[in-house]
Amino acid sequence: MSLKGKTAVITGSNSGIGLGVAHELAKAGANVVLNSFTDRDEDHKLAEALGKEHGVTARYIKADMSKGDECRALIEQAGVCDILVNNAGIQHVAPVDEFPAEKWDAIIAINMNSSFHTAAAALPMMRKAGWGRVVNIASAHGLTASPFKSAYVAAKHGVVGMTKVIALETAEEPITANAICPGYVLTPLVESQIPDTMKEYNMDRDTVVRDVLLARQPSKAFATVEQIGGTAVFLCSDAAAQITGTTISVDGGWTAL
Ligand code: NAD
Repeated sequence: MSLKGKTAVITGSNSGIGLGVAHELAKAGANVVLNSFTDRDEDHKLAEALGKEHGVTARYIKADMSKGDECRALIEQAGVCDILVNNAGIQHVAPVDEFPAEKWDAIIAINMNSSFHTAAAALPMMRKAGWGRVVNIASAHGLTASPFKSAYVAAKHGVVGMTKVIALETAEEPITANAICPGYVLTPLVESQIPDTMKEYNMDRDTVVRDVLLARQPSKAFATVEQIGGTAVFLCSDAAAQITGTTISVDGGWTAL
């Protein structure tokens, strides 16, 4: 599973799943480029510490994944992109008839359109290098729906569809494209939804975690960012060279129900 000498660009990777994926790829020997839309000292220090921990080159590049030109600039600035992990994502929860149009546009742009722009910029680099892996972090919501998550569900279904198209367009090349579909992982994104859910259902935190979040997952456990990262490492390995155009669920059985 050595990824020594490969360079991975992971969008939205200064927290949560993206950071976990970056750590696992670096642990496997890949040099990594971290990204988010902020440009704080702590973002650059995060990359520095990650590089030191795993003995790889790690840097942080600011780029706002809601903007197509910045998505493409991220890949250009990285210079090399053997492994592209499209992970940046946001969420908003509201019924369709109350869903703010600007939230819809932002979710579609960050969660879906960014994956198109980064892939468009990265595929020529992968072709030049003669090797490439596209790993899109979709969601159980890329395969199933939930009420009040229209934009998120639409974006994640779009990512799954686009992953298949990239796989078909690169099928005869040493490039693969796959999507990972996590169930719930307790990251800042999921944590931020818990207070509203507590208010909505008049529940305490433990009840929300047990009866709303874990209730979706037959395993009654959350996946960890390390497990999502480990799945990404597998998809980048030689063992997965013939796996393309597919989705791998890491959801404790959610989508098997
Ligand atoms: P998170 O909030 O911890 O991470 C989201 C990342 O995206 C952060 O690094 C954030 O800085 C970045 N980001 C947000 N807007 C951005 C922008 N405009 N430009 C660049 N970066 C931006 O959340 P997470 O749970 O780690 O989510 C990561 C991905 O995993 C998302 O695509 C999410 O939809 C997906 N996912 C998460 C879960 C879960 O349960 N946590 C489940 C399924 C899928």
